[in-house]
Amino acid sequence: MSLAFPVPVRPVIQPPPMVEEVLTDDEREALKSRIKALMKQQDAVLVAHYYTSADLQDLAEETGGCVSDSLEMARFGHAHPAKTLVVAGVKFMGETAKILNPEKRVIMPDLGADCSLDLACPADEFAAFCDAHPDRLSVVYANTSAAVKARADWVVTSGIAAKIVKYLHRQGHKLLWAPDRHLGEYVRRVTGADMILWQGSCVVHEAFKVEALKKLHAQHPDAAVLVHPESPEPVIALADVVGSTTQLIEAVRTLPNPEFIVATDNGIFHKMHAAAPGKLLLEAPTAGTGATCQSCAHCPWMAMNGLKKLAAVLEHGGNEIHIEESIRARARLSIQKMLDFAAAEKAGTIQLGD
Ligand code: SF4
Repeated sequence: MSLAFPVPVRPVIQPPPMVEEVLTDDEREALKSRIKALMKQQDAVLVAHYYTSADLQDLAEETGGCVSDSLEMARFGHAHPAKTLVVAGVKFMGETAKILNPEKRVIMPDLGADCSLDLACPADEFAAFCDAHPDRLSVVYANTSAAVKARADWVVTSGIAAKIVKYLHRQGHKLLWAPDRHLGEYVRRVTGADMILWQGSCVVHEAFKVEALKKLHAQHPDAAVLVHPESPEPVIALADVVGSTTQLIEAVRTLPNPEFIVATDNGIFHKMHAAAPGKLLLEAPTAGTGATCQSCAHCPWMAMNGLKKLAAVLEHGGNEIHIEESIRARARLSIQKMLDFAAAEKAGTIQLGD
């Protein structure tokens, strides 16, 4: 295909070193009770992503918050009456919360918690990409900045991407997709849509290794292979289930298999163990700590969240998300389309069929 605008070369994103919070039981309990008191004083609720630490996930649930994927985090934060939303995750999740809740204070344990997909898609380059293809609608993954969302026609999460693209394809639209090339390729494959793909990738999912996965599966032939669609195509090809984080947790809960090999961030194992106690969960191989493994199945940006930083931000302030109003208002429109689509699909007023 010859393009008027060259699709950007694959950017190299260097992740930060992995630094995970390590606490004694006493430290953990002291921090949690301090945080609970501060959250109460400040009318705050905690929404945490599945990839954050077990401590943050437990705290969110103990305090009436939620642990979920990015779509549900956005929905929950929007529906909750608290004046302050504490978002434990990565920056685009905090931005999404602010986009939907401009009247609320949105804070995060660490504003440096980025994402290789967001970093790979600067707003000015994305705008040039769109300008070069005025005949195409742009669909961006939620893992993008507020400015990219503001320029896009639609925002999608991994759980709903294929449904929305299928819907747009059936309406005759040609599409631009950004930033994750693997998720884009997967969506293109299952929908048959005409899509030009940005070339970003997730440092965690890109590290899964197909040959090592085949070997592990041979050792555990009864295991179901669960794969997040940010993974490369040869890994997806080995999957029994391809899905968003929520869909993969549901698969562990409902499938009869006694064992699972899971190709997504290992932070999800906390919820999976709770959903299906007694089942054996194995990490899909990423080549271990050597070779080309940069992440070893855990996101270094997600790991920047921790109880100490959360206590500090509640105690001393700072780390608040601010978005320029014209950008926020435009980004809201493209996110709202997704939320409306999800609601209509649930209500049965959009029929996608097979
Ligand atoms: S796991 Fe991948 S997609 Fe998720 S925040 Fe980390 S780098 Fe981004």
